[in-house]
Amino acid sequence: MNKQSIRVAYIDHAGDIGGGAQEALLDILRYLDRDVVEPVLLHAERAEWLRDVDLSGITCRALFPASAPVLEHSRDELAGFGSRLAGVWQSIKPVRELRRAILEEDVDIVHTNTLKCHVLGGIAAKWARKPLVWDVRDILEPGAARSLLLRVAKITRPHLVAMSAAVAESLADAHCDTTVVLGARPVAKYRPRPPDEKLREEVGLQPGAKVLSVIARLTPWKGHQTLLRAFREVLQQEPAARLLVIGDTGFWESDYKESLQEQAEELGCAEAVRWLGFREDIPELLALTDVVVLPSRDEPFGMVLIEAMAAEKPVIATRAAGPMEIVEEGTTGLLIEHGNEGELAGAIVELLGDPDRAEAMGKAGRQRAAELFDISRLIKQLYEVYEAVSRSRR
Ligand code: UDP
Repeated sequence: MNKQSIRVAYIDHAGDIGGGAQEALLDILRYLDRDVVEPVLLHAERAEWLRDVDLSGITCRALFPASAPVLEHSRDELAGFGSRLAGVWQSIKPVRELRRAILEEDVDIVHTNTLKCHVLGGIAAKWARKPLVWDVRDILEPGAARSLLLRVAKITRPHLVAMSAAVAESLADAHCDTTVVLGARPVAKYRPRPPDEKLREEVGLQPGAKVLSVIARLTPWKGHQTLLRAFREVLQQEPAARLLVIGDTGFWESDYKESLQEQAEELGCAEAVRWLGFREDIPELLALTDVVVLPSRDEPFGMVLIEAMAAEKPVIATRAAGPMEIVEEGTTGLLIEHGNEGELAGAIVELLGDPDRAEAMGKAGRQRAAELFDISRLIKQLYEVYEAVSRSRR
């Protein structure tokens, strides 16, 4: 083992397809310099998001059993998170196992990646007397879950890595050391490329179609319902518009996709919508896209916006904490109020109808993504956090 390196345990409980949090963690694991950080990944048994991922050189241990209540998750139910955590509290087993793994792996720092892991991994780290980093990506409403998180923060004293200034602000009353490490993506991976004609055909797009894409889990707060209503209005002015819906539901809300498809039928726009499910080829799909839309409510960040910008695509997002930090309004994209389908339709028509402006926004977006949102900057900041956390222990 390299004596200069820091051994870090990354803990993530997600058992299903991953969301942005898991994507972000995979990027950290991919782009860390192993001479600086030796990663140990503590994950769930049924971790679909790890399937087909090259984990060579990373010590991995599956710790959360596939049937554990800790695997249930949905942000829309976060209000009930606290009460369900009562169940998690009872399942002391994961905490014990995490502590054992942390000690056996002789890690220097514990880095937790999800809300439940902040709690479970946090207690395990405290118990094992290891410094703790919480990678915080959510903004919690006042309520039981938030109170619990604050209580656990008081006991475990994590260093908070906040994905946006808004996320940091939302936990200011935890009075923890906090570093804003804006979310990031490997910008080069999403570089612009010529459209793949075979793929265009495969996803059912005619040449000349004006393509909107929404790339997001199918979960109510991502705002697909508003987008479908807006899309009907768009079609009246831009009949060649087509909507790619990229992303899928988690296993706990599998009916939601059907309800969206029914909504599209009722609105009369179903023929212009393509439901692509979860895709691995986001850069290629972006190459077919004219405008990327992220219509979420209270979006804490929205990494897809960075991906779209890196691919030179203009974006339309909501005036929520995350997008407001990522998008330079009027220069790299447009921001609208959540739930306002008229305003959303107007923004879409504006960009579809003005390709020169859309192109200029895309170019400005790529420059902004490269300057501010590349993974190399995030990794460098993480090293600094680890260094500070280690120093404070010496
Ligand atoms: N994603 C993907 N395939 C899909 C849908 C989404 O790879 O079919 C990725 C997307 O490219 C992004 C992440 O999932 O990297 C979603 O992150 P974001 O921060 O936008 O949303 P979150 O899921 O964290 O709320």
